[in-house]
Amino acid sequence: MKRIVVLGGGFGGIAAAQRLDRQFRHDDDVEIVVVSNTNFLVYTPMLADVAGGTIEPRHAVPPVRAFLKKSHFREAFVKSIDAANRTVHAMLINGDSADLQYDYLVVALGAVTNYSHATGAAEYALGLKDLFDAFRLRNRALTMLEWANTTRDPAQRREILTFVMAGGGFSGVEGVAALEDLLHGSLHYYHEIKPDDVRLILAPHGERLLPEVDERLGAYVVEKFARRTIDVRLGVGVNAVTERTATLSTGEVIPTRTVIWTGGIMVNPVLHDADLPKSKHGAIQVNDQLQALTHPEVFVLGDCAAVPTPDGQGFYSPTAQNAIREGPVAAANIAAAIRKTGKTRSFTYKPIGSLASLGQRQAVAQIGSVRLSGLPAWFAWRGIYLAKLPTFSSKVRIGLDWVTDLFAPVDTMQLPIVRENAASIGGLETLVASHGTMPSAPAIG
Ligand SMILES: Cc1cc2nc3c(=O)[nH]c(=O)nc-3n(C[C@H](O)[C@H](O)[C@H](O)COP(=O)(O)OP(=O)(O)OC[C@H]3O[C@@H](n4cnc5c(N)ncnc54)[C@H](O)[C@@H]3O)c2cc1C
Repeated sequence: MKRIVVLGGGFGGIAAAQRLDRQFRHDDDVEIVVVSNTNFLVYTPMLADVAGGTIEPRHAVPPVRAFLKKSHFREAFVKSIDAANRTVHAMLINGDSADLQYDYLVVALGAVTNYSHATGAAEYALGLKDLFDAFRLRNRALTMLEWANTTRDPAQRREILTFVMAGGGFSGVEGVAALEDLLHGSLHYYHEIKPDDVRLILAPHGERLLPEVDERLGAYVVEKFARRTIDVRLGVGVNAVTERTATLSTGEVIPTRTVIWTGGIMVNPVLHDADLPKSKHGAIQVNDQLQALTHPEVFVLGDCAAVPTPDGQGFYSPTAQNAIREGPVAAANIAAAIRKTGKTRSFTYKPIGSLASLGQRQAVAQIGSVRLSGLPAWFAWRGIYLAKLPTFSSKVRIGLDWVTDLFAPVDTMQLPIVRENAASIGGLETLVASHGTMPSAPAIG
């Protein structure tokens, strides 16, 4: 009996497990075990929609078990990998420790937000990397609206209603656009708040937005945002974050309660101590067949792998597009090793294109040499992502959410799962301390 263990239930892990399922469906001598700390796959391109409230959070996270036929799924937290002894150390959902032996291992544990570029960001900034982050951002925005609606001091209201997005990649651009839609779309319920009270600042650090796509599309986004309420500060980053401020790289200190950090990722810290060779960024180095350089029975893919490009000049970028295509390559190579066919595969892939949603029925898209912007790109964005959703039920659910969103008013309900109120983010205590009294609600009538 051979045991294949797949670590991670994200894009790469699921793609590998699905192909392994097919390869070994009728082979009773092969056991496949998928281990992940959540029992759902986070469909990250939809996270901005979750934060903005245009789709139900549940619909952006299809269950892992829906993808698997032969594989066994174990919800567990991977603590470490001991490659020398072919063992994964994990903590099971009941808190017990477990050692999982393997013959072949697929590591697809992804990356986490890297807050280290700004002092205080890890402590005070929100992220936009997983479902919890998206929930939290939406709730924070709604909490700020509720709070601002009860405060009479214009300076306080401005501070509460200032949102700073750090990072100008896909997450930053899509996140700030979704936030703008949520905030402005909700204002008709908040009679004490004027549209000008809401301030959105996008500090991308780099000199352009969306560096992954054609420069002209990035410039288009800057121009579009300038005509809306998003203040784009090209070439400016966020250097420090406190409970009540964001300090920009220009030295400007912005009073704010909400900084969202999308300024970089780093390899999952669980892999820091793994006895496997790493790149200077901490990603596990693999060959073109996705095998760890020192351990050919360990396959690594997705955001935690340094996969060499065919020209040998660099590594593939950490994208879902790459992770989804690396999974089947790893699976094919494991099958070739178990069956001793010698039919190994190398990973090569040229991305088809990139799309970014800009809210307000606008988007930008680059598909091959074709560039689209505005409404046509928005249709392309929704059409392509709907088609790419992994399960039929998620396609139907998200399709219905989007149709509903076309005519239904913005939903301002704060989901209780991570309900925050002003006090829990240090708001009311600080206000009481500095003003000696609770901020009073506006007079009724
Ligand atoms: C907001 C946002 C938007 C994005 N949009 C796009 C896009 O439009 N197109 C694109 O190509 N890419 C996009 N990406 C990037 C894409 O999401 C990643 O490149 C992709 O998820 C990487 O896949 P992966 O399998 O390596 O990791 P992940 O998909 O992150 O999966 C990692 C898995 O490991 C599990 N895990 C982590 N730690 C442990 C542990 N200790 N124990 C057990 N399980 C663990 C996680 O729960 C998860 O299931 C986006 C990312 C973000 C954050």
